[in-house]
Amino acid sequence: MSDRHPTRIVIAEDDTPTRVLLERQLTKAGYDVIACENGMEALEAIRKEVSSCIIVADWMMPEMDGLELCTTVRTLGEMQVLAFFIYFILLTAHSETKQIVTGLEAGADDYVTKPYHKQELLARIRVGERIAGLQTELRQQQIELHKINSKFATLNQKLDDLAKTDVLTGLANRRHLLERFAEVWALVERNNQPLGCIMLDIDKFKSINDTLGHAAGDIVLKKLAETCRQCLRRYDVLGRIGGEEFCIICPDSPVEGIAHVAERIRDAVEQTEFHAGDKLIPVTVSLGVAGRNETHRGPDDLTSAADAMLYRAKESGRNQVWIRDSQGNAARFGNLAGVS
Ligand code: GH3
Ligand code: MG
Ligand code: MG
Ligand code: MG
Repeated sequence: MSDRHPTRIVIAEDDTPTRVLLERQLTKAGYDVIACENGMEALEAIRKEVSSCIIVADWMMPEMDGLELCTTVRTLGEMQVLAFFIYFILLTAHSETKQIVTGLEAGADDYVTKPYHKQELLARIRVGERIAGLQTELRQQQIELHKINSKFATLNQKLDDLAKTDVLTGLANRRHLLERFAEVWALVERNNQPLGCIMLDIDKFKSINDTLGHAAGDIVLKKLAETCRQCLRRYDVLGRIGGEEFCIICPDSPVEGIAHVAERIRDAVEQTEFHAGDKLIPVTVSLGVAGRNETHRGPDDLTSAADAMLYRAKESGRNQVWIRDSQGNAARFGNLAGVS
């Protein structure tokens, strides 16, 4: 409850002299009082409230008695229909222990028997104010905590994304690519599907850095990443696994099909204009392709096979695709009948 506004008290009492007396006493004590003739009227008044209040309710009343009012208020609270704290005092002539227990178990916070002592009732109302104040504070802290938690969740998500991403190109980094590779491997192995891998390395990249500078090299890496991405299907996984080395995982495609993808990339890179300022940089790439076979024990064996083909492409003059085909033959793309 706020320090600035007087506490709102809703009275529910069908006996007119008692209701008038209560209203006068509580108003005189500085409270903001709404006096109602039965539980139903009190419930209507409470539903219009927006912050914590205190209810002083008689038990026996027409329309809706005090006990039903109490149960209803607690149910609406649990359902978040009433999203603020309500301190409930039953003020009744029922004075047997069994009745007191029934009242408290229905959700009342306090129980005062009639005839009541004004000072005692006011003291109990002040207890209610203190508890309502604490509840409001607790709720505000919970809201703050919730806000902080969602900020942390967003930050964690960003950190997680950063940990998976190569900052320069925005592609999967080495660690993330290898994680994805292991996942894809498990899936295709279970479903007995083909799986291929392309290793790509920029040709003579060192000389681009040496002649045009490291910044020009970075521009080439970024544009190359985009060029590769455009040649791939949505479910292929592309990552930058080293300085100027990229790896592509191609699930569910025969190795000969993947060689076509590699050739498409090689051709696209050759055709793409890479600029550093007004300088045109000639860029080519070499690629090695291999498909999963029964001798491979895991992703490492497949990447090694593709790496071996990349080495052959470099050795044979660069700007070409080499493939170990399904028969186990190594050959340059376009020359699949070639000798291993
Ligand atoms: P090859 O055709 O045999 O692959 O020759 P290469 O010059 O491409 O190979 P090498 O491994 O000798 O050189 C790779 C170069 O890549 C060396 C290094 O300076 C450069 N490099 C690695 N990471 C980055 C990077 O993040 N940015 C830039 N600009 N250059 C990088
Ligand atoms: Mg009554
Ligand atoms: Mg290299
Ligand atoms: Mg290179």
